[in-house]
Amino acid sequence: MGRPLRDLRISVTDRCNFRCTYCMPKEHFDSNYNFLPKSQIISYEEIILIVKSMLPLGLSKVRITGGEPLLRKDICSLISMIRNLDENLDIAMTTNGVLLKNNIQSLKESGLDRVTVSLDAIDNDLFQEITDSKFEVSQVIEGIKSAIDCGLEVKINSVIKRNKNESEINKLIETSIEYNIPVRFIEFMDVGTTNSWELDSVFTGEEIRNIIQKQFGPLTKTKPNYYGEVAKQWKMARHDLDIGFIESISSPFCGTCTRARISSNGKLFTCLFSEQGFDLLSLIRMEADEQDLSQVISDIWNKRKDRYSEKRKDSTKISNPVEMSYIGG
Ligand code: SAM
Ligand code: SF4
Ligand code: SF4
Repeated sequence: MGRPLRDLRISVTDRCNFRCTYCMPKEHFDSNYNFLPKSQIISYEEIILIVKSMLPLGLSKVRITGGEPLLRKDICSLISMIRNLDENLDIAMTTNGVLLKNNIQSLKESGLDRVTVSLDAIDNDLFQEITDSKFEVSQVIEGIKSAIDCGLEVKINSVIKRNKNESEINKLIETSIEYNIPVRFIEFMDVGTTNSWELDSVFTGEEIRNIIQKQFGPLTKTKPNYYGEVAKQWKMARHDLDIGFIESISSPFCGTCTRARISSNGKLFTCLFSEQGFDLLSLIRMEADEQDLSQVISDIWNKRKDRYSEKRKDSTKISNPVEMSYIGG
């Protein structure tokens, strides 16, 4: 399909300190759940080998994600190691934000460029209900503030689910205006097998825009900032604010999907909805070098035909897609 390889998302851990109901519901991710043992988790040196092997293939962005990436020990040293490979590589992290404030200085010093903080509710009770945790929303806001103060580029990601947090849309916009940072609204997706996804729970980008326009006036669609940009950009004239919409259910974007993923046990996935990945970690542990990996990844990428979100409407439901916390959101 002629899609270049540009981005790599690395899930550095399958563990998390939240239990967001749409991602890691407590009923499944409880004390009986088999998280990956340490021996199966990809090491920083192994990650570096993969990143190095992908640079000649056109890689220009790396996102550190998970699970909750700030739970992985010494994560800043991984970021420094990636930064040392290429000073022009765009390095970002997606985090739930509660551990951000304590780590922000080292993250900045390690060479991180950007941070995306996930935040689905401003109301504390609703925040605790969605994240199924006792953390306070103020901790996330403090994390956001510390990242802005440190000079990092910050965005907010919000998943909106029908009959759950529509009430938060305009509060999230107010927060984005207050801190002058973009917010991106994400449609609830059918990733994994545990989050009881159904089409009726999807609150579409269009419905979100209708709610915003009622309070904040007209939004106008703007051009993508670059090829393969996942979020469709809209501008709010009144506050000169960009708002993104990731509409993978109502308006899929597989045709320009430039993102590869590495799961926390070192498998390469070319689609968020794949059932199986390609085991790069075993290859590395059998002494594959950078050139071997480049060849393998290039072969896999060139043969990829996945466009799950575009086919979703044909009800070609895959039976066992992997979990988001493992593959990396
Ligand atoms: N723990 C970090 C966080 O929450 O930012 C990083 C990993 S999390 C899997 C990455 C992103 O995936 C978050 O923004 C989260 O809201 C999103 N996500 C998880 N499950 C989702 C689902 N079923 N539909 C849409 N987005 C989802
Ligand atoms: Fe954890 Fe992020 Fe999933 Fe929430 S969305 S459970 S914070 S990995
Ligand atoms: Fe890319 Fe798969 Fe998402 Fe389509 S469904 S945009 S191919 S990750």
